[in-house]
Amino acid sequence: MGTSRVEGLVSYVKRLAYAHNVKVNSLVSYLITLHPNPLIHPKSANNQILSNGMSRMINVVAESLEKLNLMHDLKFSTMLPWQSIINYKTLLGNHKKWCTVCLREWKENGVEMYDPLIWDLGILNICPEHFVKLNDSCPNLNCKSYQWYGMDSFVVGHCQTCNEFLGVEEPETENINIINKEITAWDIWVANNLRDMVVKAPNLTIPKQEKMYTILNNCINDFFQGNRINLCKALEIEYFRFRKIEEAQYRLSLRSFLLLSYLTKLRVTDLIYYGLK
Ligand SMILES: [Zn+2]
Ligand SMILES: [Zn+2]
Repeated sequence: MGTSRVEGLVSYVKRLAYAHNVKVNSLVSYLITLHPNPLIHPKSANNQILSNGMSRMINVVAESLEKLNLMHDLKFSTMLPWQSIINYKTLLGNHKKWCTVCLREWKENGVEMYDPLIWDLGILNICPEHFVKLNDSCPNLNCKSYQWYGMDSFVVGHCQTCNEFLGVEEPETENINIINKEITAWDIWVANNLRDMVVKAPNLTIPKQEKMYTILNNCINDFFQGNRINLCKALEIEYFRFRKIEEAQYRLSLRSFLLLSYLTKLRVTDLIYYGLK
């Protein structure tokens, strides 16, 4: 599609289930039986498959769908391409977020609604297409519900509680300038770089986990006065983690990784090769 709004794999699986009038869980169980590795059992389908993270199960679902030839390169609908350097534990937000402008655009153009992968990343605050704050509660003032990562809500773009369209403009839009003033340079950096991570992943050779230690050392020398402690403070990681990174036993959180990018002013797509031969 060429925009940051690459559909998340979970969203795709949900629409597929809805179109075939089957439960999401049943579809996932069926997909797992198609996996080339017969040791993977459908009973494992009952836990958190359906988050666009880097879980083992999301990987299984992606591989099974690819085997069906329904779609290629489904891993790029997840954050799996980044798993060698990013820690998946804090990847997702607690509840869903969305851009009301995107939703309205889709509705006006009759586009079938879906959840872009990027909206699920907890660290994203603004839409990388429209640079407006993402919403995270229902615009119906009598409802204001958060939207959860449930498996059973099919109607993307509508409130799980009251069914209100989530792209409705909020009544206080005369305050839009105030809201947009709250957007920081950090928010914009994060949105632009996450967009690169999602859109450009198919064309990148993402380095192996061991390379991260070399990249960090190159950054320490060039941006942190050769001082590891300065780097750890800036990236909000405990010092002992640095040794773990050296041993390839720890990966940076998405937040630390983006902080490194922000502080060095190296775009993520350059940072992953920084100083590597
Ligand atoms: Zn948008
Ligand atoms: Zn609602």
